[in-house]
Amino acid sequence: MSEITLLITENQINSLISSTKDDLPNESCSLLLGNIVECEYRVKVLKRMNNIAHSESSFNMEPDELIKVYQWASSKELDVIGVYHSHLDGAKPSATDLSFMRINPVIWLIYELSGSRFRAFMLVQDNLKEVKVKISKA
Ligand SMILES: [Zn+2]
Repeated sequence: MSEITLLITENQINSLISSTKDDLPNESCSLLLGNIVECEYRVKVLKRMNNIAHSESSFNMEPDELIKVYQWASSKELDVIGVYHSHLDGAKPSATDLSFMRINPVIWLIYELSGSRFRAFMLVQDNLKEVKVKISKA
């Protein structure tokens, strides 16, 4: 079985970083829409979401906003392939993240501001697996 990989462009990465900086000091969150082909999760569109928790240590998405994004994605034949959010420090999922990962078993992409790095994870049969992030030029 090949490794699960998240394919994302440099522009998408830069856009996540810039929305994350705008949302400071709170955690920033976005949904990653795209397609899954075998083990490759390719990001096509980012949907920036409001963090209604207004917190620097957690995030929460607004249910109506979520439904709208899911509907829009399905009208464009895209799937919600990942959940993005930022951490001030540490790029591993928190206990709260893990409980939401159980409900929403997509790729969870986390940006750690203090270390300026991205890490991605997925819960597979309740085991936390790190997902490879491949950043392309275009
Ligand atoms: Zn988190």
